Amino acid sequence: MSITPTIPLDAQGVHHGFLKLPHSRDDSAWGSVMVPITVIANGAGPTALLTGANHGDEYEGPIALQELALNLQPQDITGRVIILPMMNMPAFSAGLRCSPIDGANMNRSFPGRADGSVTQKLCHYIATELVTRADIVLDFHAGGRTLDFLPFAAAHILDDKAQETACMAAMQAFNAPYAMRMLEIDNVGMLDTEVEGQGKVFVTTELGGAGTTTPKMVGIARKGIHNLLIHAGILTGTPVVEPSQMLDMPDDDCFLFAEQAGLIEYLVSLGDDVARGQPVARIWPADRTGIAPVEVCAKRSGILTARHVPGLVQMGDFISLVAVKVG
Ligand SMILES: [Zn+2]
Repeated sequence: MSITPTIPLDAQGVHHGFLKLPHSRDDSAWGSVMVPITVIANGAGPTALLTGANHGDEYEGPIALQELALNLQPQDITGRVIILPMMNMPAFSAGLRCSPIDGANMNRSFPGRADGSVTQKLCHYIATELVTRADIVLDFHAGGRTLDFLPFAAAHILDDKAQETACMAAMQAFNAPYAMRMLEIDNVGMLDTEVEGQGKVFVTTELGGAGTTTPKMVGIARKGIHNLLIHAGILTGTPVVEPSQMLDMPDDDCFLFAEQAGLIEYLVSLGDDVARGQPVARIWPADRTGIAPVEVCAKRSGILTARHVPGLVQMGDFISLVAVKVG
């Protein structure tokens, strides 16, 4: 195992340190990648693994987890909380979604490889040393620089219905303004899939995005951690419960993609209701005048749940997610 923690993972108390991965390179022949980690433990109880910046340009989770790592005390809990606010440190340091070291997308690289690239080694360590210790895993995501989302916690449809029920209950406990039964475009290589494959309870989020944070989105992250740790039996206290709208993604008709490049004009905003066939956006030519824009129309009725952020789109870019309100 080339990654070593600089702190004990199984000791009582509070320990702040790093996962240290040797990374020999031009500017540092015997250098290391240092991924910050905090472990807080008190007595026998469940273990929660809380991760942020799986994608390096998503900041809501890292802020809420930095705060938790600073403030959570052993006497507050029963069990253990393992916190990685900046799990994909190389990408986070660069302000990028993917690692600049190997170009890899961490959330497409699980379960990783012990003898692989930097990202693969990190994934392998997380999968074999951290997920294995956990009963419940919360992995924060947001839209990053190129997407913006309504704030939701999400859980997946699973073959194991008892596990699915446990994941959905944890998602509801997080109590984001929206709760999503999530369909992935491609779930191969995701931390989600690894955690679920190990039979654990998994919750993820999409909380805003656009390459920055807002007080509202960080507040949702902070409240969700608190509620989830109570739900897991690690923290005592009363959860803060506010109205939450259940959403579903029944099939691929939820997704709209650009079939041409251009200048995108959104015609509806996040949270707006849209009808099947309604234009969600139109794409103007970015390189000439005198040509009409092309409309991108909803394939189903629902609520605009995610959108592209930059003003220009390339062919194949994700345009929007239209989810369906349940109940
Ligand atoms: Zn992400």
